[in-house]
Amino acid sequence: MALLTKAVKGTQDLLPAETAKQRYLESTLFEIAESFGFKEIRTPVFEHTELFQRGVGETTDVVQKEMYTFDDKGGRSVTLRPEGTAGAVRAFLEHGLFNESLPQKLCYLLNCYRYEKPQAGRWREFQQFGVEMFGSADPSSDAEVISIAYQIFSFLGVEDLELQINSIGCPECRKKYHEALKNYFKQYKTELCDTCNDRLEKNPMRILDCKSPVCKKISENSPVIIDYLCDDCREHFEGVKKYLDSMGINYTVNPRSVRGLDYYTRTVFEFVSNAIGAQGTVCGGGRYDLLVEELGGPKTPALGFGMGTGRLKMLLSAQGIELPGDNVCEIYIAPTDKESSYKVMSMVTDLRASGIHAETDVVGRSLKAQMKYADKIGARYTTVIGSDELAAGKVKVKNMSSGSVAELDIDNFEDNFLRYTINETASDLADDVNTDTAFSLTDYLDNIN
Ligand code: ATP
Ligand code: MG
Repeated sequence: MALLTKAVKGTQDLLPAETAKQRYLESTLFEIAESFGFKEIRTPVFEHTELFQRGVGETTDVVQKEMYTFDDKGGRSVTLRPEGTAGAVRAFLEHGLFNESLPQKLCYLLNCYRYEKPQAGRWREFQQFGVEMFGSADPSSDAEVISIAYQIFSFLGVEDLELQINSIGCPECRKKYHEALKNYFKQYKTELCDTCNDRLEKNPMRILDCKSPVCKKISENSPVIIDYLCDDCREHFEGVKKYLDSMGINYTVNPRSVRGLDYYTRTVFEFVSNAIGAQGTVCGGGRYDLLVEELGGPKTPALGFGMGTGRLKMLLSAQGIELPGDNVCEIYIAPTDKESSYKVMSMVTDLRASGIHAETDVVGRSLKAQMKYADKIGARYTTVIGSDELAAGKVKVKNMSSGSVAELDIDNFEDNFLRYTINETASDLADDVNTDTAFSLTDYLDNIN
């Protein structure tokens, strides 16, 4: 039975108390990316397994250990996406987006799946916000993509994030570098983990990304790619730094950062925090100039990043940053008896049609129980309607925080209520700025009507 009341390991629910904040976060991410001209793309949750094997790389942890792969009933091997880039490239090719104006700038928010050891900041189902730009090899595009993440963090008020950048060159520079790495790691062959022993011949750079403490320690003194960059890659990296400088974006060069996915070339970067424990990388990305061709498309330089929104939220809460939360009930209308409840139902309907969050009883509760409920949901205003109010055509509306009461006409209640609350807010604002100008928005509205 426990299985029925427990979510699968590494997955989590988002409860109503959190979802409004989550939605605010999501729309902020899109708005910022859209201000750079990026447009949303949505791709399927699962793809052909080969796409990730080819795209992410056979020697990566993701492909070797972490994919949710299964045969569907038609015998196809499919995989729940472990990241967003491979699917975006596949869609870019399938729909011929390379024939449209370049650069193509895409962004997305998606759930990803990796069979990892669940721990703080590491889940098996997690959400990534990502951007991808296709069609520019120029260093200015690297700086622009990095600046999107930078802008997101600044807008949200996040502090103490370090931007680490590196260049991991092109296949040309990597030839010599791989030789140097192999020679270095060979001395430690017996100490390296099994996976890294395998990588030693196939892809020694991957060892630098191993999470095992022993391999990590050994990697600390390994040769660094920066010393092996060819002239073009070096010049490109200098260009990226110059653009970042011109944008006032601080960074440190981390010559050992290689990132966990095989498709990267030249620029790689991470935004790292010390405030959220061992899983401190909130955003990671880089350039992948060869991936589109590798997956069968035309030669197209490209780059992007993935930002874990779960880790971003951990960082926000570690820094005491509150996202705007729920939209609360503006007015709760309590009918005293069944007869009045029909009129009340029509009033809340009109209020909602005017965009006002209004609630009433749908349980059949006593007046006392209704008031308790209104208090629990934090209704800003309440009013009670019975036969007396209906006969008089007037109701008393109570402001639950100040206790003040106003009498409003039932006829066109939604308009009367709106005017009244706007006016209250305006006079609160006037009090706040400490002016003694009597400001009545109602008068103002009356005058212009
Ligand atoms: P890490 O080194 O932390 O394992 P990674 O190199 O595997 O990260 P990417 O594949 O580049 O990460 O993914 C981009 C971002 O997605 C990460 O920086 C992180 O914020 C987030 N992320 C990756 N894996 C997970 C996970 N299992 N749970 C939560 N967030 C994740
Ligand atoms: Mg990982």
